[in-house]
Amino acid sequence: MKTHHIPAWDTKLHELADGVFAYTQATGGFCIANAGFVAGDDEGVAIDALFAPRMTEAFQKAVRRASKARVRRLINTHHHLDHSLGNVMFPKATIIAQEQAREVIIRTGFPKEQLLAIAPWFKKDLKGKITVRAPDVTFERHLTLYVGGRRLDLTHVGPAHTVGDVLVHLAADRVLFAGDVCFFYVTPLAFEGNIAGWVRALQAIEDMENVETIVPGHGPLGTKEQVREVRTYFEVITREAHRRFEAGMTEDDAARDIAIGEYVHWGEAERLLPNVYRLFTQFRGDPNGPIDVARAFAGMAELSVKQ
Ligand SMILES: [Zn+2]
Repeated sequence: MKTHHIPAWDTKLHELADGVFAYTQATGGFCIANAGFVAGDDEGVAIDALFAPRMTEAFQKAVRRASKARVRRLINTHHHLDHSLGNVMFPKATIIAQEQAREVIIRTGFPKEQLLAIAPWFKKDLKGKITVRAPDVTFERHLTLYVGGRRLDLTHVGPAHTVGDVLVHLAADRVLFAGDVCFFYVTPLAFEGNIAGWVRALQAIEDMENVETIVPGHGPLGTKEQVREVRTYFEVITREAHRRFEAGMTEDDAARDIAIGEYVHWGEAERLLPNVYRLFTQFRGDPNGPIDVARAFAGMAELSVKQ
């Protein structure tokens, strides 16, 4: 990384082109994701539904202030609840996701107690009954949507961050909604991912034409320069973890031992621990195999990541 300067960013709606909006949330921390909206004449497409009801409401309000178009279609970029728990708050929208993302949404539901065990600070935000709404329309590899004369190309690039990751590309506007394939200035979290696949997905973005502005799933708006930094982060930790795996170290010892340089300044640097857990399954030849998620998350509290 050329610089350890971490920009500050706000919770706000950004108009990227006439009728194309990105919604970022400050900090980009655990379950604090970004979203998007593409307006047609009176119908629009939202990209991700966010997590706690107050977050989804704030996003919907910002969209209503900026555009007359109402959300009639909603894309889930992947199954994670910080992108899909808000689905239920779009009762009039048809929800679109990759086939495997839908399967996982249905299989996992909303494990509120497990989630609050990891992130107890959301207790107030999640009180009452919150139901999960599964996507209505799915696809395998590619889907094209049209809204107000604009073309949105949806492409499955998983398994990367998750099995069902989707990129949403507006080539004419040179805008890419990358979902959680991109975390900018926030440490990417790979506990359910496939890091080798993720590196390939990042490389694919770097090779794409007609991409100028990239809306990450977490963090501020960026460009391919930030994508390259995310890829380099994974390449560095893959190399460092592999060395320690070969030396017979445990995941926990490896994570304590690895120095990650300037990436230590990214938010939630302790995610190195679940990321190393994930890498070790990859080294054992089982890249999508189970990891001890509870242990990996619990261990983050005690990990002080080396620079
Ligand atoms: Zn996310």
